[in-house]
Amino acid sequence: MTIALYPGSFDPVTKGHVDIAERAAVLFDELVVAVYDAPPKRLLFSTEERVELMKKALSHIPNARVEFFTGLTVGFAKKVNADVIVRGLRMSSDFEREFEMALMNKKLAANVELVCLMTNLEYEFVSSSLLKEICQLGGSIDEFVPEHVAAALKEKFRR
Ligand code: ADP
Repeated sequence: MTIALYPGSFDPVTKGHVDIAERAAVLFDELVVAVYDAPPKRLLFSTEERVELMKKALSHIPNARVEFFTGLTVGFAKKVNADVIVRGLRMSSDFEREFEMALMNKKLAANVELVCLMTNLEYEFVSSSLLKEICQLGGSIDEFVPEHVAAALKEKFRR
């Protein structure tokens, strides 16, 4: 039985993230989607909100569950007995960052493999940070996030 961990900030979850989770859930027996509680960036949504938004976004995937974690990703990977860490790749800058982190993670936890899934063409330019910016400026983000996430984003930026 192969357990995969899909970690991220998910601030908030986008259709790009959902797509990666759906595909990973087909490849692996169990998928743990892990919301990183304190990434080194300014967050719009609290950890609890990010977990709730993700749970609702993935409720159609029976072998996926959502948790939050504190500290090192590989530490959490060991805790949930993950064999694989899943990440998504969009452009080449994602690759450089993932490559660097993967090499370091391999030092810290030699038996956890990294599997990167390429983005769906439709979502290549979808990022949480860009969507937050667009929403704040009054642009439409409905196409790129689940309905409940669009509502939560609009609520945050309501004047
Ligand atoms: P990070 O974990 O780096 O703070 P995110 O929470 O936005 O960033 O993303 C979590 C993971 O999902 C990362 O591996 C990221 O590359 C991937 N990802 C983000 N947006 C997309 C997308 N549109 N398509 C595919 N993968 C994505």
